[in-house]
Amino acid sequence: MDSRTPELDSLYRDVLLDHYRSPRGRTEVPAPDVVNEGQNPLCGDEVRVAVKLAADTLDRIHVHGKGCSISVASGSMMAELVAGKSMGQAEKLIAVVKDLMHGKPLPEGLETGDLDALQGVQKFPVRVKCALLPWMTLEDALRARRQGQVHPTAPTSTETGGEAP
Ligand code: ZN
Repeated sequence: MDSRTPELDSLYRDVLLDHYRSPRGRTEVPAPDVVNEGQNPLCGDEVRVAVKLAADTLDRIHVHGKGCSISVASGSMMAELVAGKSMGQAEKLIAVVKDLMHGKPLPEGLETGDLDALQGVQKFPVRVKCALLPWMTLEDALRARRQGQVHPTAPTSTETGGEAP
């Protein structure tokens, strides 16, 4: 794990490290229905998200993150969680992650995978944008898709999205 990783609880750190070292969703998706790129200039994180839909379902998702361990791990968790979900369910999970980064607990009764490992990031405001980057990038991708576009008119940035804390 890189030197910029904050001191997280060791259990959560192990989960993050596992996602960072073996990111999920790295398999390219041929002929994706929607593609977006995102960046977090404050940290230098970059992510590319591509989704193949089957009707309303995110049938396959490719997430390629470059940057700090938290951004890469968060993108990996996202790939794991949203694959096979409907667009509405994915949007719900995006809202859950934003709430989590703003200090709210994870909701009961919703499959949230390894997201609890991101909880500790709340304590490091500068890293919150690292964790949010892939989710904001997917959010803009899904919004573009709902508007019938293959990609958003502009790439996602944590500094211009208006959704970052
Ligand atoms: Zn970062």
